[in-house]
This record gives sequence, C-alpha cells and structure tokens, in this order.
Amino acid sequence: MTTHPNYGRIDGDIVMIGFGSIGRGTLPLIQRHFDYDPARFSVIDPNPASAAFLAAQGITHHQVALTPENYREVLGGLFPNGRGFCVNLSVDTSSLDLMKFCREIGVLYIDTVVEPWAGFYFDTTENAERTNYALRQKVRDEKAANPGGTTAVSCCGANPGMVSWFVKEGLMTLARDLGRDDPVPTDRASWGALMQSLGVKGVHIAERDTQARDKPRPRKVFVNTWSVEGFIAEGFQPAELGWGTHETWMPETAHAHDTGCQAGIWFERPGAITRVHTWCPTPGPQFGFLVTHNEAISISDYYTVGDKSAPDFRPTCHYAYHPCDDAVLSLHEMFGAGRQQTVHEILDVDEIVTGIDELGVLIYGHEKNALWFGSRLSNEETKTLAPYQNATGLQVTSAVLAGMVWALENPQAGIVETDEMDHARCLDVQRPYLGPVEAHYTDWTPLQDRWEHFPEDIDETDPWQFRNVLAT
Ligand code: NAD
Repeated sequence: MTTHPNYGRIDGDIVMIGFGSIGRGTLPLIQRHFDYDPARFSVIDPNPASAAFLAAQGITHHQVALTPENYREVLGGLFPNGRGFCVNLSVDTSSLDLMKFCREIGVLYIDTVVEPWAGFYFDTTENAERTNYALRQKVRDEKAANPGGTTAVSCCGANPGMVSWFVKEGLMTLARDLGRDDPVPTDRASWGALMQSLGVKGVHIAERDTQARDKPRPRKVFVNTWSVEGFIAEGFQPAELGWGTHETWMPETAHAHDTGCQAGIWFERPGAITRVHTWCPTPGPQFGFLVTHNEAISISDYYTVGDKSAPDFRPTCHYAYHPCDDAVLSLHEMFGAGRQQTVHEILDVDEIVTGIDELGVLIYGHEKNALWFGSRLSNEETKTLAPYQNATGLQVTSAVLAGMVWALENPQAGIVETDEMDHARCLDVQRPYLGPVEAHYTDWTPLQDRWEHFPEDIDETDPWQFRNVLAT
C-alpha cells in the first residue's frame, strides 16, 4: 500500500469554495496529506451536480453562490472560531475580497487566479480595466497597504503558480550547465541579478496539451481539459505580456501602464486569437495563444532589476498556450460565430484515450539559446497518482497542495505570490504528482521554421525579439 507524506494538521475549519474540476481533484490530496477534523470540512458551490458525491464523502455542501452582498456572512459563519483554511477554487468570486476577509478573521487562504466577481469579464467596458495587470495590481496594492499578517497565497495553481517555481529550477539548471557555481538566491534582488547575469531575455510559459478522447468534438460544444468558463473569460481578455528591456518594437495596438509595477503591456485584441511562435519538447516549434495570465506580469515584475519605470533589466514573459485540439477547434468556432457555445464539456480522466499535458517554461536568449523546463504528465500516469482528475487538473491541484503546505509552515507571511515562496520546498511537495519533470535545450528560435513564400516584417538581427515571436 502506498503511504503518503503527512504535512501536518489544519486546526479549525476547512472551507473549499467552488467544487468544479479543480476542487474535485484537490479534495483527495487534502484528505491524503493533512490531518483535520472531517466534520469541519465544507464546500460552498451553487451547482447541485456534486451534492450526492459530497454527501457520500460526509462533507457539508452549502449550495449557494457567494456574492459581494453575502460573502462575509456565509464565510464568516463557516469559520466560527476564526481558525482554519479557505481554499478558493471557484469562478465568479472576488479573490481580493475573499482574501482580505480571511486575513481579517485570521484564516489561511489560497487561490489559483485573481478572480473577479461575476460580470466583470464581459460587462467591464474599458479593456485596460479587464487586464490581469489591473486585477493583480489591486492585490499588490493591498499587500503594500497591509504588509504581513495571516498568510494568503495568491495564484497558486499550475500557471499561475508552479511555473514560477520552474523558472527558478530552470535558472539554477542553466547556471550549472554553463559551468557556474552560483548559490541558490535567497531574495528577489539576487534572483533578478542571476537571471540578468545568465543573459536571459525572456520566458514563455510554453504548454502543449495533447489529451484527447476518441469521439470527434460535436459542433457547438466547447470542449476543454479544465474550466471552459474560466478559459473563455481569460481568452476574451486582452492579450497581455510582461515586457522586457531587450525589446525594440511594439505592436501598434499595444498599451503600457502609467501606474503600478509597470512590468506589462496589453493589446487591443483578445488573447485567444493572438498567436505566438513557441517551442515544446513534443511538437518542437508550434503556435501558442497569447492568453493573458497573472504569471506573465508577476514573473517580469519579480525579476526586474533597477527602477520599475526605467529598469536596467526585465525579462519579457508570456503564456504561449496550445490547449487540447478540441479546445482549439472550440475557440475557432466561438470567435468565428461571435458567440459562446452554450454546451460546455471538460474532458474526463476516464474518457481521455491519449495525451499528456506538457507544461513548462522556455527560458530563452542566453548562451545556450533556450531551455524548456517542465512537467510532461500523461493522463495514463495521472490515473495512477490521484483520483478524479486528468493530467491538467493534477498539475494544478498538486500546486494547491504545495501552496497549502507552505502556508501552514509560514502562517504569518502576509499576501504572497508563488514567485515569493520557497520554490524548492513547494516542488518537493508537488513533484511526486508531476510525472516526468525534464530539462530540454533547443537551438530553435522564432526565426526558424517559417514559411518563406510570404516575407514577414521581422527582425533578423535579434532572434528573440517579440516582433519575431508574434505571428502575423
Ligand atoms: P469549473 O468551472 O470546473 O468550476 C468552478 C466552480 O465554481 C463551479 O462548480 C461553479 O459552480 C463554482 N461557482 C461559480 N460561481 C460561484 C460562486 N459565486 N460562489 C461559489 N462557487 C461558485 O472550474 P475549474 O476548472 O475547477 O477552475 C476553478 C478555478 O481555478 C477557476 O478560477 C480557474 O480559472 C482556476 N484555474 C487555475 C489554474 C491555474 O493553473 N492557476 C488552472 C485551472 C483552473
């Protein structure tokens, strides 16, 4: 029988908000790795679909949607002693409001995204306000205004989340492979200095999801390997990225920010129809979508050296996402039709017949050109590791587990992003769930493998310019 490490006791109540694909996959990891009072575990989710499952597990299900009006009362009522852990894995709830409230009552908090209240993504008219830059900056402002205090871990899934730990592992791997003997940096300034001294120009969060089932995608159905609602919302936000100091050109539709960390720019175009050239081990060169993500801004911000408005060094950083093939077709259909499909399906672990989620960081621009460092977890292996989830889910839920362990061990760290956590400890906890975690060097650059028949407006003098990465 497999024995699983025990990471300690969660005193007080555990409240999981949202019991969709990620909540369902996180539950067995909490059950497996922590001691707690099972009678004090409850779930808040308005969807009745999981009621029977939760009842069978002896978990109290509060079938209610959190709203700006009720969250203090509902959540406050579930933490009567002001102790415990709030695990927010929902859509349509404000991460900022929930984390502020949890810190106010002394309850540990974790989420996987800076989520806004329902309506924000599609009802907000100003595109600048719909960016992840704006959502993240509010959390950073709250951290600055109220430093320290009860730990709240912001954005601790696979990406955002685990990939920030991979950047650090990748940088140490690169340093070693270049024959250097740098000590592991211990603070933000020395991590920035390390990345700069290695000659890194930027980072793609480079993902290829090849999971598939054996029936063709039905028309008018959006199929994905995780939240369809979440993917549509982020895919319809403006394309956005952390903007590095080596860049010499910007698209005409780009906008910078005058306030905040100033690490990012955004475009007047949805991310899910903005393509970039990137590279992953399985396909080699491929197109990814420039879908906005919190980590694109947080990583560029974290590794900035010098003054934020005129830095000496900052890496470019963005997501380059090739979702599963059914999701690519779903996006194509949705943007073509100008309306969302009303039927949503998340590929279930048992219907997937093939594929892996290959999720890593492509660290580029240095002496060895580019290094991809990441997890290549298959659905088949996932079945042997943990129940109720596919490979995509397990990369996320195991990061939630790692973040919870870190929070329990660091209960007074204030609001933190994953860049600010001990990456080695977190990967220690997470690694048994990630399948092969590998480093791959490549000599590919965005100047290679292009079609020659139609000349493009690119910069042949510097392969890793974003101008070459962006597909026209
Ligand atoms: P899902 O759509 O499967 O589940 C979301 C759940 O939230 C649903 O069960 C829904 O009923 C519930 N919900 C909706 N409104 C609510 C409300 N007002 N109050 C309480 N619950 C509410 O989504 P998922 O795939 O489980 O993803 C959950 C979250 O995790 C999303 O925000 C998603 O963006 C995020 N996520 C992050 C990563 C990462 O790597 N960082 C990866 C995947 C998902």
